[in-house]
Amino acid sequence: MRYISTRGAHENGNAARPQFCDILLGGLAPDGGLYLPEQYPRVTAAELAEWRTLSYAELALAILKKFITDIPAADLEAIVKRTYTAEIYRHCRAEGDANDITPLTTLEPGLHLLELSNGPTLAFKDMAMQLLGNLFEYELARRGEQINILGATSGDTGSAAEYAMRGKRGVRVFMLSPEGKMSAFQRAQMYSLADENIHNIAIRGMFDDCQDIVKAVANDAAFKAQYKIGAVNSINWARVAAQIIYYFKGWFAATRDDGNNDEQVSFSVPSGNFGNICAGHIARMMGLPIRRLILATNENDVLDEFFRTGIYRPRKTAETHVTSSPSMDISKASNFERFIFDLVGRDPAAIRELWGKVDAGGAFDLNGTPWLARLSEFGFVSGRSAHADRLATIRTVWQRYQIMIDTHTADAFRVAQQYRETGVPMVVLETAQPVKFAETIREALGRDPDRPADFAGIEALPQRVTVMDADADAVKAFIAARM
Ligand SMILES: *Cc1c(COP(=O)(O)O)cnc(C)c1O
Repeated sequence: MRYISTRGAHENGNAARPQFCDILLGGLAPDGGLYLPEQYPRVTAAELAEWRTLSYAELALAILKKFITDIPAADLEAIVKRTYTAEIYRHCRAEGDANDITPLTTLEPGLHLLELSNGPTLAFKDMAMQLLGNLFEYELARRGEQINILGATSGDTGSAAEYAMRGKRGVRVFMLSPEGKMSAFQRAQMYSLADENIHNIAIRGMFDDCQDIVKAVANDAAFKAQYKIGAVNSINWARVAAQIIYYFKGWFAATRDDGNNDEQVSFSVPSGNFGNICAGHIARMMGLPIRRLILATNENDVLDEFFRTGIYRPRKTAETHVTSSPSMDISKASNFERFIFDLVGRDPAAIRELWGKVDAGGAFDLNGTPWLARLSEFGFVSGRSAHADRLATIRTVWQRYQIMIDTHTADAFRVAQQYRETGVPMVVLETAQPVKFAETIREALGRDPDRPADFAGIEALPQRVTVMDADADAVKAFIAARM
């Protein structure tokens, strides 16, 4: 399998069509675009029939083999089996479901929750990040190289990256977070890690200051090359690929084994950077019978606006709301270019034109283009939810089904209600556990969320963090001193 850039670097010949491991450790393509498979592998009815009874790890291998052709099958199998274990994804709601990795809970006939938040950090980012950690370690060893991952986080991504990379050979993590801006639980999750290759840096400033430092370091080409600076952000293709697996898993769990394997299922996805739902789009392009992909946003509704109006208008930082589903607080959706590439018939010239406007701080409008009419062919619909809706939804789900959902899942649940159809199973993706957002749970339900036993008292553990001013040079010096 070879990969192409949404902005057309591959048009210059085969050298610009890298394979999976060539793009694993990098970010953007050299032309500023995002990588996608040259064509999507199609899944046959016979494969679907065969895959229905596979374990999560076996299913992951069957799917990833189609996208990863430059790792020997036996090595890939070992990596996948090491990743998707009941021991790593052990925080399941229902006892005994651990081997499912992503168990499906049926709330009522035709309405299901797919648990994606059973990993080490209790958010769905573990689903892909744990695989990434093992792939990185494998590929770095194969090349005899090292990498220093520099990132900025306001919560979920940073902890998922640290738990995936802890103890991995060849990898060091330098994670910037805004001092005092994360919850006590989030701080404890990250700062209590004692692994030598994990470095937490609390910046005296806001999340944007942390992000600016990451950008400043990445823009210093000499420093970046000398210190092998890398990233694990949501545009990383391996993360998207890993997320395709659970759409298949969820589809099998929500459909009957009637021998035909053509029953349609809708998925409702709490969305920020469009990584999760982009994987759903790719599963659908592979031939998985997905009826609708329901994109749910919070008050930061740049994507809902696009699917309602055909206008994509990234927001300014100052226009970005701080909400009670904070992992969806985005001003622009970094993976969105991947979907638009497919929408415009994979024409890189069209992407260069549209993102020429976006990258210059503007917007684009698909009204009056032939592409707008094609949106429905791709199954996308959307909706948004705000704080009061979130509280009401958490309450309703608790009262009706005795199940506690987190704030992001609540956004997806609420929008899912607007698109339910008789005879079409609806699967709501559960992307985090409620304990991560205890304050809002207390506001909604007047009680504390349950906390998995191995997180009891983590706030009292010793913490390792270096506090620094928002100064890129100081961060560079910190990294250089640890080589
Ligand atoms: C990251 C995240 C999301 C948003 O996912 P995207 O892939 O960025 O669309 C939703 N919910 C939770 C809990 C997250 O951590």
